[in-house]
Amino acid sequence: MSRIIAVSNQKGGVGKTTTAINLSACLAEKGKKVLVVDVDPQGNTTSGFGVDKYNIEYTIYELMVGECTLEDCIVPNVIENLSLIPANVNLAGAEIELIDVDEKEYILKKQIDKISKYYDFVIIDCPPSLNVLTVNAMTTANTVLVPIQCEYYALEGLSQLIHTINLVRERLNEELEIEGVVFTMYDARTNLSLQVVENVKANLEQNIYKSIIPRNVRLAEAPSHGIPINIYEPKSAGAEAYRYLADEVIEREEN
Ligand code: ADP
Ligand code: MG
Repeated sequence: MSRIIAVSNQKGGVGKTTTAINLSACLAEKGKKVLVVDVDPQGNTTSGFGVDKYNIEYTIYELMVGECTLEDCIVPNVIENLSLIPANVNLAGAEIELIDVDEKEYILKKQIDKISKYYDFVIIDCPPSLNVLTVNAMTTANTVLVPIQCEYYALEGLSQLIHTINLVRERLNEELEIEGVVFTMYDARTNLSLQVVENVKANLEQNIYKSIIPRNVRLAEAPSHGIPINIYEPKSAGAEAYRYLADEVIEREEN
């Protein structure tokens, strides 16, 4: 059975895309079959895998508005064991265009349900908002993985996110669960990072991953080369952290 994980947090710049790319790549490295679905008009997950977001004919947008098929838009084997449904700025218009569509919250689910059986994991990278695209991702997903940046306002907005997840569970996807929280951009040199981790642990009842992603310059560089961290710099602290996170995600799946 496959597991579908939406990586979501309505804050921008907290490490969603970095986590979607590198967790997926590390799952693939461990032999899992992975489909990555980019649902952010910024298309950073797409370019992070080396796919030219400015020159693709079919993306998640064409899929969602019914202008292409899954076969048209899936980019197979961007790395070994990992395929991608790309996104680009075209998707920015989707929110308005989908307003009148029947069951607009289920558009993505109807598509992904047709192919999820071919994959061990489907990882969906969400945009930095709680809009119809994020709702589509949460309706499709089994779980939501929440990256939390180790900075002072880490908990801000989290209750809103949890509220949205609860609403989706009540109205659209009764099986949706919170996969867990993963701390990102942890800086061991500052007390602040440690305080944030302690504070979130004290205030959150959700599963918190033991793997903490360090602030690591290699993680910031890798996307400009279009290569995930485990291939770009296999021995970096960032690669090790995402491998460990992949182990934990697999372990959770098996239990
Ligand atoms: P989001 O998808 O939540 O907006 P990103 O994953 O795009 O966030 O990260 C925002 C910025 O921070 C990017 O420039 C990214 O390269 C950088 N970044 C993310 N995680 C790390 C990390 N652990 N160490 C260093 N830089 C990071
Ligand atoms: Mg992003």
